Amino acid sequence: MQHLVRDCFRGQGYRFASGAFDIARTCGWDRVARLGSNESPYPPSPLAIARATEALASANRYPDEHMGSLVDALRRAFGDHAFVTGAGMDGVIETVIRATVDAGDRVAISTPTFSFYGIAARAQGGIPHPIPRDRDFAVDAGRVIEESRGATITFLCTPNNPTGNATPPEVIGEICDGIEGMLFLDNAYVEFAALDYLPLLHRFDNLIIGRTFSKAYALAGLRVGFACVPSWFEPVFRRAQTPFALNAVSAAAAMGALADPEHVRRIVAHVTAWRRRFAAEIPFPVLPSDANFVLVDVAPLTGDEAVEALARRGVVVRSAAGFPGLGDHYIRVSIGDDWENERLLEELQVL
Ligand SMILES: *Cc1c(COP(=O)(O)O)cnc(C)c1O
Repeated sequence: MQHLVRDCFRGQGYRFASGAFDIARTCGWDRVARLGSNESPYPPSPLAIARATEALASANRYPDEHMGSLVDALRRAFGDHAFVTGAGMDGVIETVIRATVDAGDRVAISTPTFSFYGIAARAQGGIPHPIPRDRDFAVDAGRVIEESRGATITFLCTPNNPTGNATPPEVIGEICDGIEGMLFLDNAYVEFAALDYLPLLHRFDNLIIGRTFSKAYALAGLRVGFACVPSWFEPVFRRAQTPFALNAVSAAAAMGALADPEHVRRIVAHVTAWRRRFAAEIPFPVLPSDANFVLVDVAPLTGDEAVEALARRGVVVRSAAGFPGLGDHYIRVSIGDDWENERLLEELQVL
């Protein structure tokens, strides 16, 4: 029956960091340093846990299809914008592409970056068009505008996964001004950068800013994402979305997390302190980062070799070799709990 499978699902699909975890377990480590997926090392806010627990009691009911209370809470936290929500930002990305991309449409992607934009575009029949970044991974607005010609939508991640660097809001404004299609700005890591892209929403009706509760808000397992969208796009998004995409328990947890900004501040402070230590103490070149991870150049080793060697020593990181447009000699290391970060530093010294 294999002939029934669409071409876009014959390849490898999204690459997870779990392979290295299995190696660590097989080598007998029962306490594994998990630095492969950019999660928060801290558990969720107690308020998030309490709200989710409460919501379980009415799980016999479908959630509010418009996520009214969550949207109100988002508006209080982030300003008077139009919001859409989904099962992780990945769910939001998938719906945005479903709403805008027809078979054969060009989907421009500033690379190297997060692989899911290309995967979701292909699933919709779109044709991903990579736009390479400069040598230092900076974004050249002119080049993005030029190569986005004819594209329905352009994806740009800032701070960027996996390189860690951020693109200044002025450059993003220039791009919004110059392209004919939409710009999806992925702000998954924006809490870790001292940058605010939201004011741009007042100036452009082709800008979508994607955000997530998976990183700084410590709710990766509950899958909550959202986006600030132009107001004309909100009803379009709703028509394209799977009904009840975001579940009521996760939405309640997100509201609890929003009610505890101190928890986020603690996580961000932990990350920024360790980011400095990583830059100073990792015995390989570390790229400047505005995110909760750093990209490390492990040459002459390949990323895959380094990941396997570290996994055997009980430390899980992500090889960046699978990111098209990046060399094969990088690993991406999340900032974890103190003991996890110390273990990483120890093992890198003897790699
Ligand atoms: C983690 C991540 C996301 C989304 O995560 P969700 O868990 O689906 O909300 C989106 N973009 C980038 C670049 C990420 O690293």
